[in-house]
Amino acid sequence: MSQREEMPLDVLFVGGGPANLAGAIHLMQMAQEKGLEIEIGLIEKGSTIGAHSLSGAILDPKALAELMPDYKDKKCPLECSDLKDEFYYLTPKGKFAVPYTPGYMHNQGCHIISLSQFTRWLGDIAEEMGIMIFPGFSGTEVIFDETGKTVLGVVTGDKGIDKDGQQKSTFEPGVDLTARVTVFGEGPKGSLMRQVGNQLGIFSDRMPQIFETAIKEVIRLPESNEFLNSATTVVHTFGYPLGMETKGGGFLYKMADNRVSLGLVTGLDYADPSLEPYDAFIQFKHHPLIADIIKGGKVLQQGAKTLSAGGYYTMPQLAVDGALFVGDSASMLNIQRLKGIHTAMKSGMLAAETIMEALAADDVSVGMLNNYESKIKASWIQDELWAARNFSQALSKQGFGKFFHIGAQHLTKGRGFIDPMPIEKDSTTLKNQTAPANEVGDKDQHYDGELYVDKLTGVYLSGTQHEEDQPCHLDVLDMDICLNQCRQSYQNPCTRFCPGQVYEMETEGEARLKLNPSNCLHCKTCEIKDPYDNIIWNCPEGGGGPNYTIC
Ligand code: SF4
Repeated sequence: MSQREEMPLDVLFVGGGPANLAGAIHLMQMAQEKGLEIEIGLIEKGSTIGAHSLSGAILDPKALAELMPDYKDKKCPLECSDLKDEFYYLTPKGKFAVPYTPGYMHNQGCHIISLSQFTRWLGDIAEEMGIMIFPGFSGTEVIFDETGKTVLGVVTGDKGIDKDGQQKSTFEPGVDLTARVTVFGEGPKGSLMRQVGNQLGIFSDRMPQIFETAIKEVIRLPESNEFLNSATTVVHTFGYPLGMETKGGGFLYKMADNRVSLGLVTGLDYADPSLEPYDAFIQFKHHPLIADIIKGGKVLQQGAKTLSAGGYYTMPQLAVDGALFVGDSASMLNIQRLKGIHTAMKSGMLAAETIMEALAADDVSVGMLNNYESKIKASWIQDELWAARNFSQALSKQGFGKFFHIGAQHLTKGRGFIDPMPIEKDSTTLKNQTAPANEVGDKDQHYDGELYVDKLTGVYLSGTQHEEDQPCHLDVLDMDICLNQCRQSYQNPCTRFCPGQVYEMETEGEARLKLNPSNCLHCKTCEIKDPYDNIIWNCPEGGGGPNYTIC
């Protein structure tokens, strides 16, 4: 334990996403029903709750209805309900409507939301209930007991450190936030989850984690736009521009106030090092189906985020002494439905029920907290994730062969031809680049600064800001690898897979990898996709990063 100020709590939630907010609210609901006083704290690295929340997003409200049956009366911010789906396979210039879509693809009864607004709304409710919410505080280190096996809480990052590591006049030391139980809901590829994984092996004996990167915009359309008056509210696509070798697809959802939410998800197990997810997103927007819908529009906000897409067989151990893992941190997204908000919320609520029992029994050991896993297995989370247990692996198959596996899985309640179906490629997979350097990049894209914006304009539209004079939060472990092996084999794919243009290779004179960390969208793609595991993403000073308000 350090000499910093300590703030003891009963329960600490790390991360202000839907899993932890639902968990904190449910825990307080139960405490208030029983007349118990419990000190519950929640830290969030974004400047406000919701500032770092980004998703499509279609919400299946079943967890929300369990948490708050009167959510509509409580003015839950819903953009659009009564959904009607369309599903297309795209060729470079054409489209084929998919004649049959399985039930899990349908969205009747769901709502289109802005996740940043939805989490803000949950955050306000949590605060009104007496939960201590600390936005702008990043967790930078997990506190373990002297045995190294029990989680005691987290250290929040110091503020006011300059880029050379010296204290500025604004210096504020971090705080040791200790708790009887700590709940980690950091989202995909959390930096504290990495520490817990390294220390306690919670990801051992699981299939490797699988991730996808989504780039998303909210676009305002002119009032006369035909799509706004159509019955269609949800468009899903696959095929162009990613083709059949790369996992992923596009989405377009109707929002309130003449807006649409538009995005492309790219599986990060792609093998082609010249692929640039941002570039693919712009190509997707230029496809006639999409270009026709969004014509005359203006991008209001843009952002990027990764998804934990591996599913059931990649879920880590869910409890250790003193801690639980929820939501995307625990790989609970249902990739078959491309939905994770409802499973995240439900996991937080089941974590809360486990904690309530553990506090009552005065036992926060892993033996007691393992009841959380039993509750997950007895819940509808298990039903959903078990049915989708081989889906991500099937999607990774090359070409149309994936559909034989998906069809077989559909007919056998998820088992398919082989169960568990192995993961063939992980997120660091790249095939050696054989094309000459000048054939990589420089795609002929059309940007007009309004509807089609370049990466830097996108960063601006995400509201991203960081204190400039702080230590770089991106550790490139071995620059020689960047300048030699990676450059020769893959021509530095970090310059392409990063949607924030954080990595730039300067080739005039002596080659140099230049970093622009203040552009960072906190998507974590670089730590996931670097082929040499040569990049570590650390939490920058709390309050920095994107400022999503409508994404
Ligand atoms: Fe995402 Fe990494 Fe780029 Fe930041 S530096 S925007 S985390 S890929």
